[in-house]
Amino acid sequence: MVDERKTLKCSRCGRDRPESSMRLIDQQPVCLDCLYGGVEPVCIWPIGVVANGKKRSGDAFGTTGGDVSVIRLSGGMSSMMKGLSDETHLTIVWQLHKSRPVKTVFARGWDGRKVGPFASRTPDRLTPIAITDVELLKVEGTTLTVRGLDAIDGTPVLDIKVARKSLEQTSKTSRSK
Ligand SMILES: [Zn+2]
Repeated sequence: MVDERKTLKCSRCGRDRPESSMRLIDQQPVCLDCLYGGVEPVCIWPIGVVANGKKRSGDAFGTTGGDVSVIRLSGGMSSMMKGLSDETHLTIVWQLHKSRPVKTVFARGWDGRKVGPFASRTPDRLTPIAITDVELLKVEGTTLTVRGLDAIDGTPVLDIKVARKSLEQTSKTSRSK
């Protein structure tokens, strides 16, 4: 729990700030002013949640479990569903809700090169948002079944878009008609 009364000293500017106004970077507190230069935060409402029983792997990369996930959209999304079931592939935008404090240099997952967050796909990043292209298997009401989503159980889903692969298949189909 973040204690609003507790203050920490920013490791960059040396000012004391409430713990809630700090981010841990390489285990050192850095204030939001030093990180973001005074811009306002953005508020995004989740449209649904992932149900797949998957957990984050012990190391920084990957998830446990199988490849099929259910996305339960909130009932209020029922008016947004028109045409969705005709698509083959979707881009899911989701929140990395279990991300851990940011490291500025680490060995990235696929080749072990020492890089920072912007040159990696680490879930431990300042902006905890991920995008994944998935195959759409089924739509029932506001519940989607998809293959290939690397999000864990309970992940908030922020948005759904048609993936490029679906656009290519749709244009092939309409050309052949
Ligand atoms: Zn600072």
